[in-house]
Amino acid sequence: MKLTRRALSAGLLAPFAFAAPEAAAQQRPDTPARRRATKVFKEVAASLYAWDLVDQGCEPIMETLKETAQANSLYLVALMHHEKRPLTDFYFPHNSRKTYFPEDSRVYWFPHSDCYRDSKIKPLVSDRDEFKRTDWLDLLVKAARKGGWKTGAEVSHTVLDEQRAAGEFVSVVQRDIYGRPAGQLICPNNPMAMAYLLALFTDLVKNYDLDFVQTCLRPFSAGQSDEGRGRPMERVLQTVIGTCFCDSCVAAAKAEGFDLKAAQKAMLPLAGALSRAGHDLAAGHLLQLLRASNTSAEAILLRHPEIFDFLKFRCASMTRMFSRVHDAVRGINPKIDVRLNAFIYDFWELSGIEFSALAPHLGSIRSSNYDEQEGRMDYMEHKRQFLLAVRAAAGDDILFLSAIGIRPKATPELVRKGVLISSECGADGLSLGHYDGAPLRLLEAIGDGLREADVRVG
Ligand SMILES: [Zn+2]
Repeated sequence: MKLTRRALSAGLLAPFAFAAPEAAAQQRPDTPARRRATKVFKEVAASLYAWDLVDQGCEPIMETLKETAQANSLYLVALMHHEKRPLTDFYFPHNSRKTYFPEDSRVYWFPHSDCYRDSKIKPLVSDRDEFKRTDWLDLLVKAARKGGWKTGAEVSHTVLDEQRAAGEFVSVVQRDIYGRPAGQLICPNNPMAMAYLLALFTDLVKNYDLDFVQTCLRPFSAGQSDEGRGRPMERVLQTVIGTCFCDSCVAAAKAEGFDLKAAQKAMLPLAGALSRAGHDLAAGHLLQLLRASNTSAEAILLRHPEIFDFLKFRCASMTRMFSRVHDAVRGINPKIDVRLNAFIYDFWELSGIEFSALAPHLGSIRSSNYDEQEGRMDYMEHKRQFLLAVRAAAGDDILFLSAIGIRPKATPELVRKGVLISSECGADGLSLGHYDGAPLRLLEAIGDGLREADVRVG
């Protein structure tokens, strides 16, 4: 018999004294006690991209995911932004291509035109031959269903490509305090942007056999600069050079009794000092004083109630966006799960994400915390803190999946620790981030971690 990790973890070689110490924990036989007294994870989700399906085929990937990580849920990153893959390493660990450079904000399904009648913005499909002739979402959903898995689709960070965001649809883009467009971030208060977003989700839920639609759409810019990055006071100050001050936001704020124009005016001296765009010497001096002091974030909010109002308004705006998406898709499929992919895990309220307000408009939350790939065991407590923060805000009842970073610089030990922490923090399952960048040993570490954490999937 070959001395494989699978044989070890299946307990086939349990009596052998020469097993490595870390393998010992993985050899526990499937006793009646283990069947009775284990925690149950409802879901282990994995994401795939169209290029993974081209390179390896859906069924073989599913077999690998099931065999190694006990995966039972599969989703396509169905609308993907412009980002080099694999993200955290030079080359793919197992795809047949070495790298891939996706086009900007393309959908990997065949959009159904009737869903976009009320939207001036239409989705873009791939221009590339290897992708444009296949509905990749249809292919993935059918394969996953055949295997008895849950199915999902993700709308990723950006839904509008940079070119159209700078051109014909610049009016839907968020604005900074000076009125400048913020890249390709759409404003949730802009009616045209919202019509497009609703059309995308409607198309997915109406035309595909999905259990969940997941999104990590980038919310408001928190205006981060490199200076004083981690300090709460600095982070609160930085939001004044974030977004959004567009006309739609002014109107939405007015409806809530918040005068955004007046707040904008009050924040300008500080914004000028922070962005070094202003010539207000007194504001510049004040900023230097604050940075040299131990002034708290709370002090800033008390002295600048306009900043606090601005933060509350942005959270209310994002919550309203999710509630509209949730209502629209629940009207089509009452069982559909709208899953927030929570990818900001520090100071998330400063981007407009407030879990306690969002929870009633969500089916589930995916913590997108990938601390494993920091490569440091001491950093894993930060993962625990984020998971507990989500639970504390969203409550114990919402379905909560904990992502595990299975990419370099993660190690099998860190992956197993991440699974254990997830189990200890009340997660209902895992979500792998991401298959395309995951060496086999890290996929196997998920399965090992589940066994070590006394968790079974089902
Ligand atoms: Zn706006």
